[in-house]
This record gives sequence, structure tokens and C-alpha cells, in this order.
Amino acid sequence: MTEANPRPQLAHLTAVLDDLRAKGTYFHLRVLDDQQAPVCHYDGKEVINLASNNYLGLANDPRLIQAAIDATRTYGVGSGAVRTIAGTMRLHMELEEKIARFKNVEACVVFQSGFAANAGTVSAILGKEDYILSDELNHASIIDGARLSRASIKVFRHKDIAHCEQLLQELAGEPGRKLVITDGVFSMDGDIGPVDKLAALAEKCGAIMMVDDAHASGVLGRNGRGSVDHFAMHGKVDVQVGTLSKAIGSLGGYVCGSRDLIEYLYHRARPFLFSTSHPPSVAATCIAAFDLLEKEPERIMRLWANTRYFQGELKRIGFNIGGVTTPATETPITPIIVGEGRKAMEFSRALFEEGVMATGIAFPTVPEGKARIRLILTSEHTRAQLDQALEKLERVAKRLGILQ
Ligand SMILES: *Cc1c(COP(=O)(O)O)cnc(C)c1O
Repeated sequence: MTEANPRPQLAHLTAVLDDLRAKGTYFHLRVLDDQQAPVCHYDGKEVINLASNNYLGLANDPRLIQAAIDATRTYGVGSGAVRTIAGTMRLHMELEEKIARFKNVEACVVFQSGFAANAGTVSAILGKEDYILSDELNHASIIDGARLSRASIKVFRHKDIAHCEQLLQELAGEPGRKLVITDGVFSMDGDIGPVDKLAALAEKCGAIMMVDDAHASGVLGRNGRGSVDHFAMHGKVDVQVGTLSKAIGSLGGYVCGSRDLIEYLYHRARPFLFSTSHPPSVAATCIAAFDLLEKEPERIMRLWANTRYFQGELKRIGFNIGGVTTPATETPITPIIVGEGRKAMEFSRALFEEGVMATGIAFPTVPEGKARIRLILTSEHTRAQLDQALEKLERVAKRLGILQ
């Protein structure tokens, strides 16, 4: 026990931290000094930023900033209540109607975050008699929602339709409802969930189909409409979750589906009922962001052009960007597989010193032995910035023995 914490009550926490230090996976928070931009400053150091989820540069788009300022001037800084008491503002309703039209569904409800949307929805629509069939790499918010629902959780191997089908067949005689759930894009590997095949399977077995499009929103499908649009599965997915925190540039999560699904969530989703709604600035920002998605598809084209260029160069240099013992990326999420956790963290730190912000990710976020740095391209990176980052990545990787 350290001297700084002489009280024994929380000594078990200190022990965990000591263990992380010993394993080399303890981290400090890096602090952003300016805007979430392709080149910015963390801890006072200028870096090429390849770590954010600001896919389309919307987090600091001048028009979105103006929308936030205008809404704040007109409506104030807070909503003052949960949605069901007195905190539903006209802007909240406008945003939901806008998203529902964009996604071509009957209705939409916005939550405070994507995490709240997943956890609040899964736990509300199922009960302890029911079953959840969940991809092994699904996001933590799905897992927490599944646990909160008290339904039985059956985990299928990553993107393994046959395994999911086998689990569903084993449950065929059970009276409980079944929910099949997958990420639209998997956040650590960047591969796309088999939404088309899973939805067809769910349909065949009478199961509910749900997709978490956090990393697909604004990235996949026409104008960034997500994985259901990407696979042309409109009407075949009962529950579509998206986030407003990544490509949309602000904060929040949403659920799209039938009018009854949304009305039910108004009455039963606990983050909706028991946590205050977004400030008006957030709703106004998101409304402006969906306008931009519809008006400026060229942002998404630039995002994909940057992705193809950068991933092609990484492969040419000889990096393992997945596809051998880990899934192959199909999106702007770009892992560089390193293996050992300590080494991945060392790579990330050394890159930072050279001026590249690249997140190190180790167990338990990814499996043991598959630690990595994860890079995310945006539409706003210039070719010159990407070339500079590639040069630094190669030099540092060679120095650390990650590349020969
Ligand atoms: C980021 C993420 C979430 C959470 O979204 P927030 O809006 O950041 O809370 C949910 N699911 C997946 C797959 C994610 O990557």
C-alpha cells in the first residue's frame, strides 16, 4: 500500500493499479488543449491525430458551432428535467423526426449517449424469460444492457452465422423471446457485421433483430445512413441504434424503429425516464449535422479515399493491419496488430513523442496477445498529414522491432 492512501477500505483498487503498472498497461489520460482536429495539441504537444472518432470533422464544423451558439442564446444551456417530466424541448422532437426521416423508419428516440441507448433499450425490451444471441465482439454497452435485462445470454463466435443458428435451434422449444444483436461495425477491428445474414436468420427463427451502428453512423450506407442501408435491409431490422457522438460530432445515441417500439421506450427505458435530456445546443448541433450529411456527401467520399490510401500504404510498408489472426478491417478503423500489451502501449507512447496520436489498446478491451494501436482516418486529414504519419509510424516501428 502506498503512503498516499493509508485508509485500507479501497486498498483492493490500489492493488489492481499496481498490477496494471507491472504489466505495462497502466495509462494516463492525454489532455486535448484545443479542438478535435487532424493536427492538434495533447499535453502541450503538437500531434497528427489518428485517434478520434471525428470521422467527418463535424465536431468542429463552423456551422455546427453556430447552431449550438444560436440554440444556447434562444433556449439556454440546459433542459432542466428528464424527458418524461418537463425536459422535452421542441428541438429534441425536431431532431428525432429528422433522424427517423433520414433512416426511413417510423420513429426515433434520442438518448444521452450511445451507451445509454444500447443499455437502456436491450434491458427494456427483454425480461428474464428471454434470450439474447450476441456476437462475442459486441460493445460493452450491449453486454451491460443484456445483463440488466436478466435474459439468458448466448454468445456466438464472431460473425459466425452457423453458430448463431445452432444456438437459436437449441432454443427452438423455449417460450421466451429471442433477440439477435450485432455491431454494424466492430470498434476494435473495423470489420462490418453480417447484418444481412443475421437479419435473414432472425426472420426465419422469429427472433427480434437489433444492430448497433455506432461506428457505421455517418460512415456506411448512402449519406452515412448506416449498415441497414449498406446491406439494403430496410424493414428487416427491428431495432437500429446509432450514435451522435462519433461521425455526427456531438453527443448522444438514438434508437430507430416502429412507432410502438419508440413509444414503449418512452415508458420503459430507464435512461430516458431517469436521466436529464440533452442541452438544446446538442440537439441543435445534431440537427445541423444531419443537414450536412444530406448536403455534403463528399465528406464521406473523402473519408473513404483517405482510408483506402492509408491502409494501402500501411500494408505496403509491411504492417499487420489485421486479416490473419484478427478480422480484416473494412472501414476507416485501422488496427496495427502488435501482440503483447506492453509493446502496444510502448509503440503508442513512442509515436506520441514523434508527434502521432495513436491509441494503444490491450487486454481486456481486445483478447490477450492481440494488443494493437488503433488508428481512425477522417475526411479532414490531408494527404501530406497522412504521409507524415506513415513515415513516423514506419520509423518508430522499426526502432521498436515491430517492423523488420
Ligand atoms: C462508441 C460506441 C458506443 C457508445 O456510444 P457513445 O455515444 O459514445 O456512448 C456504442 N456501441 C459501439 C459499438 C461503440 O463503438
